[in-house]
Amino acid sequence: SATGSGSLMWFRKGLRIHDNPALEYASKGSAFVYPVFVIDPHYMEPDPTAFSPGSTLAGLNRIRFLLESLVDLDLSLKKLGSRLLVLKGEPSEVVIRCLKQWNVKKICFEYDTDPYYQALDMKVKNYASSAGIEVFSPVSHTLFNPADIIQKNGGKPPLSYQSFLKLAGQPSWASSLLSVSLSSLPPVGDIGSCEISEVPTVRELGYEDYEQDELTPFRGGESEALKRLKESISNKEWVANFEKPKGDPSAYVKPATTVLSPYLKFGCLSSRYFYQCLTDVYKNVKKHTAPPVSLVGQLLWRDFFYTVAFGTPNFDQMKGNRICKQIPWNNDDELLAAWREARTGFPWIDAIMVQLRKWGWMHHLARHCVACFLTRGDLFIHWEKGRDVFERLLIDSDLAINNGNWLWLSCSSFFYQYHRIYSPISFGKKYDPNGNYIRHFLPILKDMPKEYIYEPWTAPLSIQKKSKCIIGIDYPKPVVSHDSASKECKRKLAEAYALNQKLNGQVSEDDLKTLR
Ligand code: FAD
Repeated sequence: SATGSGSLMWFRKGLRIHDNPALEYASKGSAFVYPVFVIDPHYMEPDPTAFSPGSTLAGLNRIRFLLESLVDLDLSLKKLGSRLLVLKGEPSEVVIRCLKQWNVKKICFEYDTDPYYQALDMKVKNYASSAGIEVFSPVSHTLFNPADIIQKNGGKPPLSYQSFLKLAGQPSWASSLLSVSLSSLPPVGDIGSCEISEVPTVRELGYEDYEQDELTPFRGGESEALKRLKESISNKEWVANFEKPKGDPSAYVKPATTVLSPYLKFGCLSSRYFYQCLTDVYKNVKKHTAPPVSLVGQLLWRDFFYTVAFGTPNFDQMKGNRICKQIPWNNDDELLAAWREARTGFPWIDAIMVQLRKWGWMHHLARHCVACFLTRGDLFIHWEKGRDVFERLLIDSDLAINNGNWLWLSCSSFFYQYHRIYSPISFGKKYDPNGNYIRHFLPILKDMPKEYIYEPWTAPLSIQKKSKCIIGIDYPKPVVSHDSASKECKRKLAEAYALNQKLNGQVSEDDLKTLR
């Protein structure tokens, strides 16, 4: 009825209409719905001291991707008879102010395991319960509820993918159809004196001097996500035969994987809907690959890392993180800057770091190469430093997945074969002997003959001159010798592992004592 009650739909991630149980519940039996997104200035405001355009927390690529996603969401809401209400400020304060001013009986938002949202949600939930407002916060960002898996495992997260798969089984919703469309939404209620704005542009946020060619080719939003998904799954053979480690990390015109990660990150695409589409494809083919290498297997990796991150205190750091090996990483700001700014002198590594800065996305194996190089492979720099750079610049930047993979690549957790090091020279060459990827992202090397493109410092000076690229002037000399640096890294890792074993031994001795 017209005098009926309203609800507040709080969008954070989950920037979509399809498979959005919070939105569905918000509209059920409500006379009006307030769809809200709160812009946290911390996340968005330009940081002029950062080495590339963006805020302290996010590169401009991700900020723009988010704004595009919000514009798309607003358009979709308008088609359903509603609109997006954009507000600014500390999100929990803003939401609580809205709850006070508007006549709402329930607040709905997708459950989020990230510590940032856990803290906000606690404040909002506390206020809501004191005001008699119903809170509905369903799990729909992941396939499973991480808390359920941890509980099934006796209170601790499973630490291997295989044990995760065993505990997880089939998702509870897998046997029923997900609700993927809405025909209409209740109208927006009276907004009173709340300051509502349109989705801002990057210029309105204060980003003025940026080069258009520095920006990612990937556009944000649910519409784009569903289009990409459709394209990916239309090739049934490709989906059925997908095997993760086999892709070509140097493919950039047409990447070897789906590039759905930024859409999953912001929830423009539901991972559950993606999963359902993939299992539909599997049903219609004779045979298909399986986890861990299949596409469904990739989604399960995502859930695996979400579960471990949620159940591990201090997951995003070495200290106080019980699953992280304690390793005496070096502190070398110059080497770190060389890596971050794509001037290590190894073209394969530098090209990947340029792709990170320009696109905010790289292939999984490319991420492997630069993460290994920074940490246990060559530079022996702390994985947290590399994590920070990825966290800011990736458009798919995701707390659980990013930290989980940095722990993995630095041999701090999950994976311990530290003698297996990616060569910054020969690894890329296997896929791209002509160096097209390097030529594209590092145009200074575009005329270097293929014999030298992966190690241009070995090119005779006459060739360097002819290629218009003098090593040491136009492009740097390598910051380390890979052979000796990688040997030294292995030696230090062996030492650190031995010490960790001793420490762990002592810890369990102590534990035994307290038990007695
Ligand atoms: P596809 O191969 O098409 O896979 C589909 C989806 O499965 C991905 O979109 C992603 O959601 C999930 N997925 C794939 N690989 C992994 C993986 N190894 N772990 C967890 N989930 C996975 N991915 C992020 O989404 N955010 C990050 O911040 C992130 N940081 C990383 C840091 C390092 C050091 C490394 C080595 C990897 C990182 N990854 C991260 C994982 C992986 O590289 C990307 O998810 C993948 O390359 C995204 O491309 P895609 O969507 O085409 O993947």
